[in-house]
Amino acid sequence: MWKLKSTRIVKHYLSTNFLVLKMAKSSFEYVKKFEHDDSLLPNTWIVIRLDGKCFHKFADDHNFTKPNDLRALKLMNYAAYTVLKEYSDILLSFGQSDEYSFVLRKDSCLYKRRSAKLLTTINSKFSSSYVFYWNKFFEHLPLKYPPCFDGRIVLYPCDENLIDYMKWRQADVHINNLYNTTFWTLILKGQLTPVQAEKRLSGTVSADKNEILFQEFNMNYNNEPEIFKRGTILLRKSLLHNKVNKSIIVDVHDDMLKDKFWKENIYILSVKKSKQNLMYKGPTTEIIEDQLSKYENHLEA
Ligand code: ATP
Ligand code: ATP
Ligand code: MG
Ligand code: MG
Repeated sequence: MWKLKSTRIVKHYLSTNFLVLKMAKSSFEYVKKFEHDDSLLPNTWIVIRLDGKCFHKFADDHNFTKPNDLRALKLMNYAAYTVLKEYSDILLSFGQSDEYSFVLRKDSCLYKRRSAKLLTTINSKFSSSYVFYWNKFFEHLPLKYPPCFDGRIVLYPCDENLIDYMKWRQADVHINNLYNTTFWTLILKGQLTPVQAEKRLSGTVSADKNEILFQEFNMNYNNEPEIFKRGTILLRKSLLHNKVNKSIIVDVHDDMLKDKFWKENIYILSVKKSKQNLMYKGPTTEIIEDQLSKYENHLEA
C-alpha cells in the first residue's frame, strides 16, 4: 500500500517537473531565432582554405628544417588526406607550407551548404588530425603546444576562376620557395647573416636567384624536390591493384600552371558524378600505400 502511494508521488513529481522544464525550455527557445541562415550560394565552387596560425614561430619552436621541413609537409598532406577520406564531396585539394585548400563539388549539399558548419568541421578534422598524426612524422620530437589553424571560405562562380585560384596558390609556392631556398643557402652555406642575406636578395628577380644558387653554390634549382617547388595536390584516381580497380586518393606534385594538367584532369570539374576516375600511373607514395594496406587488411569501409 505504502509502496503504491510512494510510486504515485514519484510519478506525479516527475511529470510536474518535466512539464515545468518543458515550459521553461520553450520559453527560452526564442533565442534560436538569433541564429542566421549562412547557407552558401548554390551551384558555385566552394573553396575552403586553412592556414597555420603563427607557423613561423611554431616552425622555430619545433626546429623545422629550413627552408623546407619534409616531415612537416608530409604531416600537412596526411592531415588533408584524412579530411578527403571523410568527405567524398571534396574533389581536389592543394597544400603548401602551412596552408591547405579544399575544393568541394559545385553541387555539394554537404551540411546543406551551411558555411559555418562546413568551415568548422573541416578545419577541426584537419587540425585534430595534424595533432593525432604528429608522431607518425616527427617520431620522438614532442609537440610542445596545440597548433591552430584559421580558415576561410571563398566561392568561385566558374571553372576558370577556380582554376586560376589553384594556379595562384601554386605560383605562390614557386615564388616563396625560390626566395627561401636562396635566402637559406646564403645563410647556411654562404655564412651570411639573415640581414645580409635579405639585403643581397632585395631587388632580385627569379633569374638572379637561380644564378646565385648555380654560380655560387653549384645548385640547380630545377633539381630541388617537386614537393618543395610545387606543393602537393590530392585528388581521386583509380588504381589497378591485385587485378581490381580501386578508387584511391593520390598525392601528386604536378604543374597546375600548365594547361596539360587541366586537360588531363578536367573530369574532376564535371558536375556529373564521374564513376570512372582517371587511372593513376605514378609512384606508390606513403598515402597510397596506406590505402592499399587497409584494403588488404579489409579495414576499409
Ligand atoms: P599567420 O598566422 O598570419 O598565418 P604565419 O607565421 O603562419 O602567420 P605564413 O605566411 O602562414 O605565416 O607562413 C608560414 C610560415 O611557417 C613559413 O614562413 C615558415 O616559416 C613556416 N613553415 C611552414 N611550413 C614549413 C615547413 N614545412 N618547413 C619550414 N618552415 C615551415
Ligand atoms: P551532430 O553532428 O549533428 O552534432 P551529434 O551526434 O553530435 O550530431 P548532438 O545533438 O550534438 O548530436 O548530441 C551529442 C550526443 O553525443 C549526445 O546525444 C550523446 O549521445 C553524446 N554525448 C555527448 N557527450 C556525452 C557525454 N559526456 N556522455 C555521454 N554521451 C555523450
Ligand atoms: Mg600561417
Ligand atoms: Mg601560410
